[in-house]
Amino acid sequence: MFQFDNSYARLPNRFFASVYPEPVEGPKLIKFNQELAEELGVEADFSDPARLAAILAGNVVPPGAAPIAMAYAGHQFGNFVPQLGDGRAILLGEVVDRHGLRRDIQLKGAGPTPFSRRGDGRAALGPVLREYIVSEAFAALGIPATRALAAVATGEPVYRETVEQGAVFVRVAASHVRVGTFQFFAARGDNDGVKLLADYVIERHYPELKDEENRYLALLRAVALKQADLIARWLGVGFIHGVMNTDNMTISGETIDFGPCAFLDEYNPMKVFSSIDQMGRYAYRNQPGIGQWNIARLAECLLPLLDSDEEKAVNAANAVLTEFGERFQSEWLTVFRKKIGLFSGADGDGELIQSLLAAMHEGEADFTLAFRRLADAAEGRDEAFLASFADPAKAQDWLTAWRERLAGEDRSGGERAAAMRAVNPAVIPRNHRVEEAIAAANYGDFSFFERLLEALENPYDERPEFADLMAPPKPEERVTQTFC
Ligand code: AMP
Ligand code: MG
Ligand code: MG
Repeated sequence: MFQFDNSYARLPNRFFASVYPEPVEGPKLIKFNQELAEELGVEADFSDPARLAAILAGNVVPPGAAPIAMAYAGHQFGNFVPQLGDGRAILLGEVVDRHGLRRDIQLKGAGPTPFSRRGDGRAALGPVLREYIVSEAFAALGIPATRALAAVATGEPVYRETVEQGAVFVRVAASHVRVGTFQFFAARGDNDGVKLLADYVIERHYPELKDEENRYLALLRAVALKQADLIARWLGVGFIHGVMNTDNMTISGETIDFGPCAFLDEYNPMKVFSSIDQMGRYAYRNQPGIGQWNIARLAECLLPLLDSDEEKAVNAANAVLTEFGERFQSEWLTVFRKKIGLFSGADGDGELIQSLLAAMHEGEADFTLAFRRLADAAEGRDEAFLASFADPAKAQDWLTAWRERLAGEDRSGGERAAAMRAVNPAVIPRNHRVEEAIAAANYGDFSFFERLLEALENPYDERPEFADLMAPPKPEERVTQTFC
C-alpha cells in the first residue's frame, strides 16, 4: 500500500523508540482522503475494506514500515519538560510523494509508547474528527498544515472526562520534527545530536541551504521566516492555535496539532478558547510574540553550531529574532492589505487596517463575514458589511476612509471585489459546526461531518446550499471553550 523509504529511522537509536502499534478491537474506516492518497502515491485496496481499516488502525503493519515513536522535549505553557515524545503517535514510515517531497505517515492514537507517561496512547473520536476537518480546511485555504489521510474508528472506548469512542488519525506531515526535537538533544548536552538533527532537517526541508557559509544560522533564519509567515496567515483567517508549545511548532513550517484550536467568530484580539489556557498565553494576538519566543528556544539549541565565539553566536541569533518580528509585520500587512482589497502598499495602510479591526472589536463584528461583506462594499453594496457591526456608524466612517485610500488605485469595483473574495473565505470550520459534526458522529451519524468537509473544500465559494455553514453562531450556538 505504501512505498516506504524511512530516513528518520536510520538516525541513531537515541532519536526514537521502535514500537509497534497496539491492535484495536474493531477497526472501521470512517474516512479516507483519496485525493491526498493519490498525491502521495499511496494505493488503497478498497476491495478488502477490513484489511484497509486494519492497516490504517495499526492492527496490520504494512511491508516496509519501520514503526517508531519520535523523541522530543518542549516548553509547555512556558515550562520546560525535558522528555515528551510521541506518547500516542507512531510514525509508520515515510513516502516520497508525486512532487518528490518526503512525507511522514503517522498513526495518532495507535497505542502506548515508551513516551506515554500516564497516557493511554489513544485518541477519542471527537478530536480526531476535529483534526481531520481543520487540517483539510487549512489545505483548501492554502495555509501550510499537516494533512489528514484517514480516520478510523477503533471499536474501543477511551476514558476521558466521560467515556468516548476511540479512533486513530492518520496524519501526513512534511516531517514531525519540532522545535522540541532540538530541545530534546540540547537539554541533554548532546551537541552531536543537535548537529545530526540540524543536518537531517537541512537535507530534508531546506536543501538549498546546504552550501551556505553558515548553514545552521541559515536554517534558524529559514525556520523563523516560515513561522512568521505562517502565523500571519493564521491571523488572516482568525485562527487561534491554542497550544503553541515548542513541541507543537514544526521545523517545516506546517501548522501541527489541532487540539484545542478554534476560529474567531466575532473579532476579539484577546480571545482564548482553550480550557487549559487559563492565563491567555496563547490568545489570538499573542501568537506572533509566542512564535518569536519559540524561535528563541530553537536558537538556544543551535547556539553552539552558530559560532565558536559565544558572543558572536548570540548576536547572530538575536538578529534572526529581530528579523522574525520584521517579517511578521510585513507579512501581516501583506495579508491584511489583500483582505481589504488593496493592490498596492502605501504609508498609513497599517493604521487603516488597525482602525477597521478596532471597529470590528467594538462592534462585535464577525471576523470572517465582515471581510467577506467588505467585498460587496467594493462594488457599492455597503448594507451587509455595515450590518455586521453593532454600531454601523463607526463602520460607515471607516468605509469613508477606506474609499479615500482606494481612490489612489486605478481598479474597478468588480476587479477589487473578485480579488477580495479570493482571499477572504466564506466558509471556515466554525467551532459550533465542528462541535455539531462531532456530536452527530458520536451517535454514528457522519453525514454532517461529510457535508462540512465538502463545504470546506471550496472555502472561497459562497454556495447557497451551505448558507448555514457560513452564518455566525446564534447566541445559543456559541462555543466559548475548547478542550484537547
Ligand atoms: P499535545 O498536548 O497533544 O501536544 O501532547 C503533549 C504530549 O502529551 C505529547 O508527548 C503527547 O504524545 C502526549 N500525550 C497526549 N495525550 C496522550 C495520550 N492519550 N496518551 C499518551 N500520551 C499522550
Ligand atoms: Mg503535540
Ligand atoms: Mg494534541
